[in-house]
Amino acid sequence: MTLSTPAPIHPGHELRDSALRQLDSAARALNLDPGMHKFLSTPERTLIVSVPVMLEDGQLEVYTGYRVQHSTGRGPGKGGIRFHPGVTLEEVEGLAMLMTWKCAVTDLPLGGAKGGVAVDPHRLTRRQVERLTKRYTAAILPIIGPERDIPAPDVNTDESTMAWIVDTVTMMTGQHSPEVVTGKPIELGGSRGRTEATGRGVAFVTLEALKRAGRLPENTRVAVQGFGNVGSVTAKGLAEAGCKIVAVSDVSGGYAAPYGIDIPGAIEHVRRHPKRMLEGLPGLSKISNAELIAMDVDVLVPAALEGQITSANVHEVRAKIIVEGANGPITADADRKLADRGVVIMPDILANAGGVVVSYFEWVQSRAQFYWELDEVERRLEIYMRRASDLVLAKTKVYDCTPREAAFIVAVERVASAIEKRGIFP
Ligand code: GLU
Repeated sequence: MTLSTPAPIHPGHELRDSALRQLDSAARALNLDPGMHKFLSTPERTLIVSVPVMLEDGQLEVYTGYRVQHSTGRGPGKGGIRFHPGVTLEEVEGLAMLMTWKCAVTDLPLGGAKGGVAVDPHRLTRRQVERLTKRYTAAILPIIGPERDIPAPDVNTDESTMAWIVDTVTMMTGQHSPEVVTGKPIELGGSRGRTEATGRGVAFVTLEALKRAGRLPENTRVAVQGFGNVGSVTAKGLAEAGCKIVAVSDVSGGYAAPYGIDIPGAIEHVRRHPKRMLEGLPGLSKISNAELIAMDVDVLVPAALEGQITSANVHEVRAKIIVEGANGPITADADRKLADRGVVIMPDILANAGGVVVSYFEWVQSRAQFYWELDEVERRLEIYMRRASDLVLAKTKVYDCTPREAAFIVAVERVASAIEKRGIFP
């Protein structure tokens, strides 16, 4: 038997500290009661589980899994599950807190939660990932459920992962339980438009930011870091709106073309070669991740992982607008430096909220057993995204602050007010 203890490869504690610092600054602006501030700084519930997986050769591997519910003040916990070797308790805590603010800023009747397993799923077979998912689900079952906490996909998880969760809960409870997760396959009660929702929302928020900056999409050059579900759909949406996508990247590396990349072609390439990803896409020059971040573009969309723009590389960033497709891609220090330089940052809790907005629609549809057409989903998504971005941008004027500070102010005020109205139990 071997114990697997993967070393963190990205700074989860930094993400949690940034989330806490952003809460502190919103608390100051709102003159928040110190007790409430303390309550909102701490997760309501944390579960750490051991996830043993029997490999084909009879060897037992043991991974560590987490589910953190940061706040259920406005409704059941909501948030994705990620499988990544860098998952730590601190990272999951920070991400759970971001989910609370994301659901509040978009005015969903949901709280914030997150889960993860410290594992590199690319080193496992599909069968092993299925077993890992099912064992992890069984371990967190006591605290999840459609009225308690509703998981969804996140980094390295997708609709198959959600289908395995539905199966586990159904087998363990004896009740068909599709409403326990969102981001399910359509055949199992998933919502139309859920897979594309995050990227569509990121593209929408980017175009709003361009409009406010008085820039035309046709004159806008964009670099997108990450070409998974979020980055690829964002790039496609922005290209359709007329923007020139001059660089993209994924774990296989970065690729650039000064006159613009054929995004539908790149998506098709990745679909045909899922293991190679963007590698081998013709007509592009290979660049490094550091070069992509430093490219001379108008808009940079970090849509991969957290901690990508830090005090070490912030001076190299040349984009005037940054839209956070990922959660926490800019560290707190780098964020301050960029704001001082006048760079407009559309924050994660607003920019990538499209996914959880359609997750909310999916939860509603699953509970009602009544499914909407795609145009209905898209129409309602736009209403939620527009309302949230208009409110956040209006608050930047009221408080004379950045969009991030404004988004936190809106969210923290809503969560604190719900908790105050309920009163502290008992
Ligand atoms: N994982 C996504 C996020 O970070 C979606 C969460 C959800 O739909 O619950 O926003």
